[in-house]
Amino acid sequence: MTEHKKLGLTARIVIGMLAGIIVGFFFKWLLAGQEERVLYFVGLDIPLKALFIDGFFHIGGEIFIASLKMLVVPLVFVSLVCGTCSLSDTSALGRLGGKTIGLYLITTALAISLAIFAALLFSPGEGVQMQSDANFNPSEAPALSQVFINIFPSNPIESMAKGNMLQIIVFAVLFGLAMAMSGKAGERLSAVFNDLSDVIMKLVTLLMNLAPYGVFFLMAKLFTTLGFETIASLAKYFGVVMLVLVLHGFLSYGVILKLLTGLNPLVFFRKMQDAALFGFSTSSSNATMPVTMETVTKKLGVKNSVASFTVPLGATINMDGTAIMQGVATVFIAQVFGVDLTPGDYLMVVLTATLASIGTAGVPGVGLIMLAMVLQQVGLPVEGIALIIGVDRLLDMTRTAVNVTGDAMVSCIVGKSEHAFDIKVFNDINAGTKEEDIDFHHLR
Ligand code: ASP
Repeated sequence: MTEHKKLGLTARIVIGMLAGIIVGFFFKWLLAGQEERVLYFVGLDIPLKALFIDGFFHIGGEIFIASLKMLVVPLVFVSLVCGTCSLSDTSALGRLGGKTIGLYLITTALAISLAIFAALLFSPGEGVQMQSDANFNPSEAPALSQVFINIFPSNPIESMAKGNMLQIIVFAVLFGLAMAMSGKAGERLSAVFNDLSDVIMKLVTLLMNLAPYGVFFLMAKLFTTLGFETIASLAKYFGVVMLVLVLHGFLSYGVILKLLTGLNPLVFFRKMQDAALFGFSTSSSNATMPVTMETVTKKLGVKNSVASFTVPLGATINMDGTAIMQGVATVFIAQVFGVDLTPGDYLMVVLTATLASIGTAGVPGVGLIMLAMVLQQVGLPVEGIALIIGVDRLLDMTRTAVNVTGDAMVSCIVGKSEHAFDIKVFNDINAGTKEEDIDFHHLR
C-alpha cells in the first residue's frame, strides 16, 4: 500500500459537497431556459437532464439515502436492546428517560423563545406582500392525543416495517428489560445482541466511507434545481432563521454543555463535524442517526447504555432547529397578514411548537407540515406557509444539522450525569477516526 497520507473523512465529505455544488451550478447554467438540451458526443445525442440530473445524480443520491435509512431500524433496535439490558439498575431507566426528555423539551423551548425574540427584533415580515396566488394545502397534522397513543406499538414487526421510531424504542426497551430479568437465557441472548451491534456499527463505518460520493450526488442534483430568486425576496426571513440557527447551534449548545458538564465545547463541535455535514446534506435526522450514534459513542465517549436511548429518541422528538424555523415563521406570517399576537399567543406558540417537535418525524420538510399545527393554534392563516416554502430547502438542511447537534449535546450531558461517559475518548482528538479507514485485507 502506498504510504501517502490520506485525507480525513470530514475533508473528503466537504470536497464531495463542494464538487457537487459546483457541478450543480454548472448544470443549472447549462440548462437555463433549455431543459431539453442535448450534447452531441461521439455521434450520439446525450440528453443532459435525463442522463445526469434525473439519471446519475438522482440515482446516486437516492441510493446513498436509502442505504443510510436501511441501517436505522436494525441499529436502533439492536443497540437499544443492548443498552437497556446492560443497565445495572433498571430503575435507572426512569431517571434516564426523565432527564433526556426533560432536556430535549427545555432546549427546544429555549430555541423557539430565542427565535420569537429575534423575529420580533428584526421584523422580517414587515413590508412583504402576500401574493394572491399563494396556495398551500397542508396534509393533516396529527392530533396531539394521537401522537401519544401512537407511541405504543400493537405490532412491533409492523412498527419496524414502517420505521415508526417511538414504537420501536418502546418495544426495544421492554425487550431489553425482560432480557435483563431472564437470567441465563437473557445472558446468552445478550451476547448475541452485542455481537450484532458490533456488526451493524461496522456497516455504518463502511457506509460512511461512501459519504463523499453520496453527498456529491445529493448536492449536484439539489443545486441544479434550487431557485435563489425567492431567497432574495425573503432575505430577511431567511437571514433571521439562519442567524438564530447559528446562535443556538453554537452559543446555546456551547454554554449549556460547558455549564452542565464542564466539557470543552470546541472539542465537541470539532467532533460533530461529520454528523452535522450528514444532517446538512441529507436533511434528515433519521437518515443521519447511524452517523450520530457512531459519533456520540466512538468520538464523544458516551456509553452505549445511554447513547442507544438518547440518540434515537433525539432524532425522533428533539428538533430545536425545526422549532426555530417555526418560531420565526409564525412571527413572519403574523406580520405579513397584519395580525397582532398577544404575549399569551407567543406562549402558546412556544408550547405547541415544543410539543409539535415530538410529532415531527426526522425527514425532509416535515417541519413545515407541523408549522400548520402551530399556526392554527394561534389563529393564523395556514396559507402563509406558501410564502416561505420556496426558501425552505436550504433552511431545512441547516436546521437538520442543528437538530442532530442538539441530540449529541444532550447525549453527552445525560451520559456524563449517569457516569456513562469516557472522558478519555472525549479528549482524544483522534478517537473513532482510525476506524473510518476500512482495512479490507481479509477480503483479499
Ligand atoms: N428535516 C428535519 C429533520 O430531519 C425536520 C424538519 O425540520 O423538517 O430533522
